[in-house]
Amino acid sequence: MDLVDAKYIGLISSRLEKFKRVKDNLYNFRCPICGDSQKQRNKARGYLYSVKADINFKCHNCGASMTFSTFLKEVDPVCHKSYIFERFKSGKTGRGYVVETPKFDFDKPVFKKKLSLPLASTNDKASDYLKKRKLNPTKFYYAEKFKSFCNSLKKDSFSSTTNDNPRIVIPLYDEEKNLIGIQGRSLNPWDQPKYLTIMLSDDAPKIYGLDTVKKDEKIYIVEGPFDSTFVENSVAMCGSDVDIGSFNWSNYIWVLDNEPRNREILNRICKLIDRGQQVVIWPSDVQEKDINDMVLSGRNVQDMIESNTYSGLEAKVKFTNWKKI
Ligand SMILES: [Zn+2]
Repeated sequence: MDLVDAKYIGLISSRLEKFKRVKDNLYNFRCPICGDSQKQRNKARGYLYSVKADINFKCHNCGASMTFSTFLKEVDPVCHKSYIFERFKSGKTGRGYVVETPKFDFDKPVFKKKLSLPLASTNDKASDYLKKRKLNPTKFYYAEKFKSFCNSLKKDSFSSTTNDNPRIVIPLYDEEKNLIGIQGRSLNPWDQPKYLTIMLSDDAPKIYGLDTVKKDEKIYIVEGPFDSTFVENSVAMCGSDVDIGSFNWSNYIWVLDNEPRNREILNRICKLIDRGQQVVIWPSDVQEKDINDMVLSGRNVQDMIESNTYSGLEAKVKFTNWKKI
């Protein structure tokens, strides 16, 4: 790569989504040719890499492969014209460079398997909080300084560690039991937001329970990790941008909170029903707004979920009766 190439990569970098320099002569960003994954906005599978003196583009999603010059022409034809001119001035004309199959030798992310933290059961405040919610304190961890702990796992998770207060730590593992992220639940009501989620890799799914779920059985998808401990074979969403489609689950049911006046939840359920998904519509006499509250009121949540699962037209009718807006 020469100065002209470097200059033009710099010029178009702001136009490429999620652009980052991986290392010398290797750049990564969302592929502008195919648009990369529309569902997973974090996916970035376009690369610029150097081959001898030249720069090539390759996308690991659509397979597009071309010289930097051609890539520039696709992305910004005007910019490409001045690039050609500058190369001509610097004596580099034509394409006399061999295009080789790229070798991607940068390291795959390595996940830590275990959390080096004490269990929540060893801290009185954390343990009391969990027991009050009928949760098992030996299933979760405790961090005295949550933000600093996150920064030790992944650099720059938090740019500032002011108000670095204790939190209950909820580990997120993938199917192979690799730690993929952590969620921290505040212990003080003034520590907002209540939940902070840090993923160790951009591609990791924000889902709790992937390590224990049985894929070939009925799977319940609930709103939070604490709720999921009360529902058989369940996972929890730790963000709203979760793409279930990539898991190849054959039978799954959405269990959203019982908030018939919450417009965001209503929209989400409505969309799920329209897409033909199975959803739980809570009976109208249930006042509690989430599974944990229902458990605390002595309700049999598992039974209730199983007998109130609907899809299609029936789901639409139940949904219309349930919503309060
Ligand atoms: Zn592509």
